[in-house]
Amino acid sequence: MRAMVLDAKWDPRPDYKVSDWEKKTGKVVTGNSVWRYPKLEVKDIPTPTIKPNEVLIQVKACGVCGSDMHFYETDKDGYILYPGLTRFPSALGHEFSGQVVEVGKEVTDLVKGDMVTAEEMVWCGHCIPCRNGYPNQCLNLEEIGFTIQGAFAEYIAVDAKLCWKLNAIRDLLGSEEKAYEAGSVVEPTSVAYNGIFERAGGFRPGAYVTVFGTGPIGLGSIALCKAAGAAKVIAFEVSAQRRELAKAMGADYVYDPTKVVPSEVVMELTEGEGADFHVEAAGAPTKTIPEMEKCLAINARIVQIGRAAQRVPMYLETFQVRHSQFFGAQGHSGNATFPNVIRLMASGLIDMTKAITARYTLEKTVEAIAKSTDRSDGKITVKP
Ligand SMILES: [Zn+2]
Ligand SMILES: [Zn+2]
Repeated sequence: MRAMVLDAKWDPRPDYKVSDWEKKTGKVVTGNSVWRYPKLEVKDIPTPTIKPNEVLIQVKACGVCGSDMHFYETDKDGYILYPGLTRFPSALGHEFSGQVVEVGKEVTDLVKGDMVTAEEMVWCGHCIPCRNGYPNQCLNLEEIGFTIQGAFAEYIAVDAKLCWKLNAIRDLLGSEEKAYEAGSVVEPTSVAYNGIFERAGGFRPGAYVTVFGTGPIGLGSIALCKAAGAAKVIAFEVSAQRRELAKAMGADYVYDPTKVVPSEVVMELTEGEGADFHVEAAGAPTKTIPEMEKCLAINARIVQIGRAAQRVPMYLETFQVRHSQFFGAQGHSGNATFPNVIRLMASGLIDMTKAITARYTLEKTVEAIAKSTDRSDGKITVKP
């Protein structure tokens, strides 16, 4: 079958100590310290065979993620930019939907023909964090499209416990093709949902919310916050095209943060009270957190969803005086997050397909990822 495979040279930086675990598993904890000279290529690889607990999915749509862009882009020394868990060579792609075409003999709740999406995080279910209810912190994590074969491919084998049916979305949209597109946006929307509602505990209807950065995660955040009853969603984004998308997703106010002082705008729009809930989806916390700090409502919450390997200055006195809190969020598994996002889509409360701005064929996946590096699109989707 055809697939878009990333290969890179295992070449640890002189100051990076490769652990025994990394040597044994071939999995690198800090990708950009080891993987050099990435090569992305659409080529033939073996069609996967399924284990008894797995299903074989014919991929129908797969979104390009910011992390895919960080595999394509390198720093001045030729290392990938992506800082996280990785093992190569591997086919990329993890925001996907497809049709079940083969079912393993231990699988009881899926049948051939089911339309599904799947969690990207392959949590084990038996390590201590998993057993304690924290699958996003699994110690034996594999990640689809990062450490094992991804969905920029014709077929993918996935553990049935990670799959969620899209049938209800198809019933609402009345079109399988649209439902598969919606299905491919469930994963990034679930990352936003997990950060806002699960990790940070959400907000009361009527709250004022800010969203910094309106790439795919920020766009999902806007849609979710409006659906959850935010009275005002105030968004900040440097790209003009993404500012338009932010409005389309339901943001009440959208600004270019290089043209205004965000904290001043928020204080003005909230009549001096500040915003109750702040979403960091820009991955630029050294710039965004100091602004959020200056417009915290009493009992405000900040959730960090964007990724940035940086130390961020915070003035903790403000958090004490404003009775405010800060949350770090990663992942999308557990807590009914995937099924709740699917319900939101199937009820028409959110429509994330509006965020899809470009579509490519599987053979053109490398071009699709290259296009994402201009950081102006909403979601770019590859359809085999
Ligand atoms: Zn992603
Ligand atoms: Zn685990």
